[in-house]
Parts: sequence; C-alpha cells; structure tokens
Amino acid sequence: MDALLVSHLPNIRYLTGFTGSAALLLVRRDAAVLVSDFRYAAQAPAEVGPSATVEIDQRSLWDRLGQVLAKEPTASLGIESHSLTVRDAERVSGLSPGRVVPAGELVERHRAMKSPEEVAAITAAAELAQEALREVLPGVRAGKTELEVGAMLEATLRRRGSQWHPFPTIVASGPRSALPHARTSERVIGRGELLLIDFGAQVDGYCADLTRTFVVGAAADERQRMLHEVVQSAQRRAIEHLQAGMLAREGDALARDVIAARGLGDAFGHSLGHGLGLEVHEAPRLAATSDQPLPAHAVVTVEPGVYFPGWGGVRLEDDVYLAPGETRRLSDGRTELLELV
Ligand code: ZN
Ligand code: ZN
Repeated sequence: MDALLVSHLPNIRYLTGFTGSAALLLVRRDAAVLVSDFRYAAQAPAEVGPSATVEIDQRSLWDRLGQVLAKEPTASLGIESHSLTVRDAERVSGLSPGRVVPAGELVERHRAMKSPEEVAAITAAAELAQEALREVLPGVRAGKTELEVGAMLEATLRRRGSQWHPFPTIVASGPRSALPHARTSERVIGRGELLLIDFGAQVDGYCADLTRTFVVGAAADERQRMLHEVVQSAQRRAIEHLQAGMLAREGDALARDVIAARGLGDAFGHSLGHGLGLEVHEAPRLAATSDQPLPAHAVVTVEPGVYFPGWGGVRLEDDVYLAPGETRRLSDGRTELLELV
C-alpha cells in the first residue's frame, strides 16, 4: 500500500484525536490528510494538531478526497473494507486510478495494545462507574421500574463526569435478567427478584463496562445464591489465570470449564469477553471460537453468565489489563451478592 484510507471514526480518533462524526483520513508514508465538513472547521484543526493536515469541504468529503488523491496519485490504496459501505467502496474505486486493496483491521490491531495513558483512562472510567453505582444502590428498591433505576444511574454517571454512556444501560429484573442484552423496560422490580445491571462510563473517550447482579427486597434464595456463586468462581478463576499470549479460546475456557463442571454449560451461551477501549466492543474477542492469541497490553472484559429463560440470569463483569507477565484488574471486582433491602 502507498496509502491507507481510514474511514472508521474510532480509528480516525485513535490516530489523530478527531472526535467529530464526519471525516476521512488519508494516511501516506510521510503525511496524513483529514477531510471533514463545515461543522468541524474549527474543531478539527484544534483536535488533530500536527498529526494531519485538515481540509474542510462544504459539499462532499468524497469529492475533496478525490481532489487530494488526484494531486498525488497512489498505485495502491488500502481501504477498511470491514467498515466501508459497498457504495463508499465503489466511490473509492471511482476516485483512485490505482489498485484498491482491502487492508484488514490494521488500525484495530494497534488499538488492541493499550498505552499506559489508555489504561489510565479505562481505569478512571471504571472507578467513575463504580462510584456512580455505589451512590445509586441505596435507592434501588422493589417497586421501582427498571427505567427508573436506569435513569438514576445514567444521571449519576453523567453528573460524575462520564462523557457518554458507551451503550444503553441494561437494567433487567426477574425473568428479564435471562435476556443477556435486555432492553431496560417499564417493568416494576419485584421483591426477591434478581436484578442485573450492565453499564459503563466513558473518560477521555475510553470505555469501562461492568455488570453486577443483585437480589432486591429480600434475602437471596438457594438457587439465586448457588448460581451467583458458580458465576463468581468462574469469573475469579478467569481473572486469576488469564494471560497475554494465551489463545482466546483458552481464556474463554477458564470460566466456561467451571460452569460446565457444575452442569450449567448450556446456560452460558455467549463469549467470555471482548476488548475495551475507544469502543465498547473491540479487539480482541475473548471467544470459544477464536484461535487468536490475546495480545499483550490488551484490555478485555471478563463476563461469564448463566441464563434460564422464564426464570432469570446472573452475569458478573469486570475489566482487566493483560500486561506482559501479569494480569491486572482495572475495576474493583466487588461481585459479592448484595441483597438490596
Ligand atoms: Zn457489559
Ligand atoms: Zn461487556
């Protein structure tokens, strides 16, 4: 490749610092050009600094990219085919006289390896999320709706400085806790029910992602306690033994084996975790189907869960940093079964 056209906005942010919603970044060996529109005429140069030359076009980013390419044609231009639409890929072919080649997830591979500053931002986001949860928990009671609890938590996260919610907060009560990606609803939380809260915070653009499961309004019953204990021991084992260099499926198995040994393997139907950074789901995947080694300096979630449709589910999620030779938990790991009465 003579040049790489970066179109995935989190990649553009990673490379230049630009946080806006419209840009194309052309990276050559010795220089980079960021094309954006009128809305970012002041913001883009301020954020990008010396990392790229900024060109603002009032009408079309693509026309301007065509002009930039025409000035210095490339024999071979890489594109991020995993993020370009078919229409935009066709546009690039029309603009570039040379070859257009799929470049793979080049920038994502760099993003998987976090710098100390990135780890610090994720740690700060996790701390902020934990403090917000601690502030809100005394107000979580049977009789409130899931949305009311979600609203309290989201307002607290924002007041404490979270830039945005990395994903819609999941507050799932009773049988709805069996939906791994439940949509927070108007359901009234009942006494003695499980309550699963999956939420995050964002600091300096970097995300934290945590899940805690509680029992509301009563002491936990035997089944709730047993399932919580299984998930907790699976999560602890994974956090203790997870290492950079391990294959992703070996990491996933650390938790899955514990759950399967208790006869609950079928109830854990998703991957153990995912990379965390500027995006809440990024490389590497911590999945049973992945033979990729976990890169050193990755930050991943560890989130085993068990789900029983019609009854409920338990998931516990923390964020860990795979430093070379040492795995460090970035969130507090406070997964004890709280009874919110
Ligand atoms: Zn989560
Ligand atoms: Zn997650």
